[in-house]
Amino acid sequence: MLDIDSIRKDFPFLEAGNGKNPLVYFDNASTTQKPIQVLNKLDQFYRESNANVHRGVYRLSQQATESYENARKKIADFINAKEERSIIFTRGTTESINLVAYAWAQQQLKPGDEILITEMEHHSNLVPWQITAKRTGASLKYIPLNDNLELDVTNLENYFTPNTKIFAIIHKSNSLGKINPVQQLIEYAKTVGAITVVDGAQSVPHTAVDVQKLDCDFFACSGHKMLGPTGIGILYGKPELLESMEPFQSGGEMIDTVSMTESTWNDIPWKFEAGTPSIAQAVGLGEAVDYLQNLNMQTVEDHIGELTEYALENIQQINGVKVYNQENNRSGIISFNVEGVHPHDLAQFLDQDEIAIRTGHHCTQPIMKKLGVSATARISFYIYNTKDEIDKLFRCMKSTLNYFN
Ligand code: PMP
Repeated sequence: MLDIDSIRKDFPFLEAGNGKNPLVYFDNASTTQKPIQVLNKLDQFYRESNANVHRGVYRLSQQATESYENARKKIADFINAKEERSIIFTRGTTESINLVAYAWAQQQLKPGDEILITEMEHHSNLVPWQITAKRTGASLKYIPLNDNLELDVTNLENYFTPNTKIFAIIHKSNSLGKINPVQQLIEYAKTVGAITVVDGAQSVPHTAVDVQKLDCDFFACSGHKMLGPTGIGILYGKPELLESMEPFQSGGEMIDTVSMTESTWNDIPWKFEAGTPSIAQAVGLGEAVDYLQNLNMQTVEDHIGELTEYALENIQQINGVKVYNQENNRSGIISFNVEGVHPHDLAQFLDQDEIAIRTGHHCTQPIMKKLGVSATARISFYIYNTKDEIDKLFRCMKSTLNYFN
């Protein structure tokens, strides 16, 4: 069990009565709040250790490099990557997926090849593949959702063919909370020789992820959804693939030698980290990973699961509510609508009660189309949320809805 009282004390954002912040923060799938340990780390880095990495021979620069590379080590350990050189620092999931699309797929694919995704993707794992298909002449196919809003995995041979060169899939849906059978699908993808890419933006913050067990070729996630700073994310890639790829961006840091006419490349992972990286942010993410590991990821998952079940039981007291992901949902993500009330109106009223919930298409317009709506309301939980906060949400929702009736 998580010691929530003690956890909440670590989050200055949640301090009641500061007059600025919502008291109940339920938009964690979008971004999480940061514990004091991460804030202090960033502050300390800028006050005491700030220097550029991999460049200076002076002590401070070496210390900054050590902290930055140490963060890489922590993250490799967190997702059980075999080698640190598999971990590339990016700006986030979006940049990580674009790196694979531009530096692998757009170099390799040709007309006749197929890119396979799913109907459940966040736009970050959809739009880069649409662009890649256009540029290369490859075709873009997808595994559709069935009536239960799950991936139709019954006839995989309908989707995977010998021409499937890349298979990109969301691990856990940000708008439906569904957890996909990625390991099984990756195994299948390998039978046709496809390269596999997992969007782990929502899975890594909630659950222990093991990239060796998944055996994916690439795995992407964002630091800011797991207590870390914005502007930092991860692309995990199998070393042999990363080594075979051309750079994504170019300039300083990513080179070995440069003449006026040509250049050679640095080793991985630095070949993919052109320019000055997000040093303090990487160090902050390392601290966030320490924080989560101290809590234990199984305990984190259990807490989020329990809150979800509690909220799903209680949301039924609200008249006219339609929950899109009620069944077996322990994901920490609940998408719903209330009859006759636009979700934006609901969110604005709740904001007056200092409750932050998310509304919109959640960067998943194809899912909204499938649901037949333009937007849903979404509540999403993290380690610092409590059942009391859920009670407050439903109390306020009831009085808001009375106003509408
Ligand atoms: N994939 C999923 C499943 C997400 O939830 C998000 C963020 N909402 C992203 C990708 C994009 O992450 P970022 O904006 O941090 O790049």
